[in-house]
Amino acid sequence: MNVPERIDLDSRAHTLTLHWPDAPAQCLSDAALRRECPCAACRRIRLTAGFVQAAEDVKVVDIHSMAYGVQLIFSDGHGQGIFPWQFLEELGTTLE
Ligand SMILES: [Zn+2]
Repeated sequence: MNVPERIDLDSRAHTLTLHWPDAPAQCLSDAALRRECPCAACRRIRLTAGFVQAAEDVKVVDIHSMAYGVQLIFSDGHGQGIFPWQFLEELGTTLE
């Protein structure tokens, strides 16, 4: 399993940068991460509405490290989503 060596949270740019051992740094916008939140509630919204709405200026305010990924706490109060490493790695190829 690929695990990032470092995660940088840029609260001004509203981005999260993952430094993988054997790949270029991956920069994800906080808003994109919020829209892709993999928690059960967001998954249900995606199934019924097709997408999860997130303000463009939503920010990641806290990161809790887990063995298999990170739990991201967003400025809109949402924080149930646990983003597994592989999920994050794959987001890099599908988002802007
Ligand atoms: Zn969620």
